[in-house]
Amino acid sequence: MQVNETLVRNVVQEVLKRLGGDGAAVAGPPKAQGRFGLFTCPDEAVAAARDAFEQLSRRTLEDRRRIIGHVRRICLDQAVELGTMELEETKIGRLDHKIEKLQTVALGIPGVEYLRSEVFSGDHGLAVIEHAPFGVIGAITPVTHSLPTAACNAINMIASGNTVVFNPHPSGKRVAAEGIRRFNEAITRDLGLDNLMTIVVEPTLQTADRIFKHRDVSLLLVTGGAGVARAAMQQAKRAIVAGPGNPPVVVDETADLDRAARSIIRGGAYDNNLLCIGEKQVFVVREVFDAMLAAMERAGAVRLGAREVEALTKAAITSVGEGEHKHDVPHRDFLGKDPAVLARGIGKTIPQGVEMLFGETDDSNPFVPVEQMMPFLPFVRCRDVDEAIEKARLSEHGFRHTAVIHSTNVNNMTKMGKILDTTLFIKNGPSIAGLGSGGEGYGSFSIAGPTGEGITTPLTFTRERRCSMIDNLRILGK
Ligand code: NAD
Repeated sequence: MQVNETLVRNVVQEVLKRLGGDGAAVAGPPKAQGRFGLFTCPDEAVAAARDAFEQLSRRTLEDRRRIIGHVRRICLDQAVELGTMELEETKIGRLDHKIEKLQTVALGIPGVEYLRSEVFSGDHGLAVIEHAPFGVIGAITPVTHSLPTAACNAINMIASGNTVVFNPHPSGKRVAAEGIRRFNEAITRDLGLDNLMTIVVEPTLQTADRIFKHRDVSLLLVTGGAGVARAAMQQAKRAIVAGPGNPPVVVDETADLDRAARSIIRGGAYDNNLLCIGEKQVFVVREVFDAMLAAMERAGAVRLGAREVEALTKAAITSVGEGEHKHDVPHRDFLGKDPAVLARGIGKTIPQGVEMLFGETDDSNPFVPVEQMMPFLPFVRCRDVDEAIEKARLSEHGFRHTAVIHSTNVNNMTKMGKILDTTLFIKNGPSIAGLGSGGEGYGSFSIAGPTGEGITTPLTFTRERRCSMIDNLRILGK
């Protein structure tokens, strides 16, 4: 008797579904069209993204532009709704900046227009270097910007012809999944392509590891702290790692102090200091130290006295780990919280609208070495610019992520640039200007310091391919 395989598979799936099991695991992946990128099983998420990659490979660049257009449009038109959702789920950061980050994704992340080819033209003809997709990329996203990172990565990756499977941070998984669902739904309606971005809706370390190791995942992008950076770099396949930062600021005696203060507040207070590029500790030469603190107050920040700084340090910095692994970390009750919450934690009331708290500390205060991700900045008094740069270097821990200087002395800028050796080095502006927000250049939510790709673009997610024409098609002279 001839067995109808499809019928049997459907019956098995139906029975398992009624029993509450995952029929797909036994009978192969269900038809993925119509899932709009949402999967519980990482293998299914990869399979659907792989299938979508095959389909995308047959589409035009214009189609890629349209696909990305839907991601941009949703980020822009639905920024308030999705930004609110992100804040309600993660409970860290600021609503105005959650909204602004989605708008930044819509307007500031490079897409298809960023692609280019290189050419060698000579006596022996032409060689064209083109940038091809990898295939399916496995991506890990942080809680600090869950949907903005996913949307930014998706724009970059799809622009260069890849598809992506996300393992989001568990504390930001719902908003990431909702965004991915909306993107896929709009793209499916317009172009009939689903699952260009897939997401594991119940992410765990195990699902991340499954994606890391999956043979159909060709490349990894991880955005997060030291733990995930280490895990990704131990994999047997290439990983692009956007790891942690602890950006120091140096202010020398030649700086425009009011401008420096406004910049430090703009960058350091952004989303309550959740950005990996955000100003985290400030080293000021003693000649202008008191004047700099006065400038911070003029710019609207609230200064804490020595006792208050001590109380906040006790409340907001805690330690984890045992023995040699014991280290300080920000306390979750304060991480990414409003300045008013920090102030309340030490029994202080501050006026509404204050964006930043600050106070004098020495460089042994944990707020200096810890990536605190909260709107309190420690200011350290330094003998001269050399001491300030050296303390800045130590506080950055060699992450080579981001550093900022306020100065009009080109020699000091050059010295700090060389010594800190960071991926982003911003002079006389807020850190966010280094990502194009008030400065030149494009933006990204994944800055790959440890592995060296820098501020990611569509070209970051490509393989070089060379196409050579021998002794012909050079149409110049002899
Ligand atoms: P996190 O390291 O706690 O989590 C990041 C992601 O990694 C999450 O999805 C988490 O579930 C996953 N993860 C953690 N350990 C893992 C492991 N061993 N294996 C697999 N996955 C693992 O970081 P976070 O709190 O979400 O984000 C803040 C950190 O990320 C900060 O250190 C910040 O500097 C950094 N960050 C860097 C960039 C950048 O572009 N370089 C951008 C944003 C955030």
